[in-house]
Amino acid sequence: MKQEQIGKFIARMRKKQNLTQAQLAEKLNVTDRAISKWETGKGMPDSSLMLPLCQILHISVNELLSGEVISEQNYQAKLEENLLETVKQKELADRKLLTLEIIWGTSAVIMYLVLVLLITYLDFVPWLKLLAIMGATILIFIVSLFLLQIEQVAGFYECRKCHYKYVPSYNQVLWAGHIGRTRYMRCPKCKQKSWQKKVIVK
Ligand SMILES: [Zn+2]
Repeated sequence: MKQEQIGKFIARMRKKQNLTQAQLAEKLNVTDRAISKWETGKGMPDSSLMLPLCQILHISVNELLSGEVISEQNYQAKLEENLLETVKQKELADRKLLTLEIIWGTSAVIMYLVLVLLITYLDFVPWLKLLAIMGATILIFIVSLFLLQIEQVAGFYECRKCHYKYVPSYNQVLWAGHIGRTRYMRCPKCKQKSWQKKVIVK
């Protein structure tokens, strides 16, 4: 897999610079366990760490993402390959998130209905019933806020007027009227309000 290749490449370039895992970790302000995770292909450096890491290892981000030293004539081709791969990974992750939202959302609603039914049929005193239903309602409310966050960050909303695609703020999503995932919001570009669809690809 690519991640393993990248890991081995990081290890190779680190040794070339005569650095131990601990020394590299200190330069980047991360733990040596993080370095070991990258080098064994079990994780990737955060995007915010990629530039400093590349500077220390004297490689380009293009080379880091390729997991190898790239010759000049291959540079452009590799760059485009990596760019496409990055877009593809983001799309995949967004699709997964939105599927998760549906699964979680459906399970939460079913659980809530079962709970409310149970509470109604159980032989509780009325105030206890009311308290239990309130508890269940608060729980589903918290779950919805969490699911809404998934919806905010996964993919983009497309303005119906100017077709600008953007990621709105959490507050904007929270207060917008919606039908399913289509939300009535103000576009940050043309400033008009419209029913905006969720799209995965920018
Ligand atoms: Zn617009």
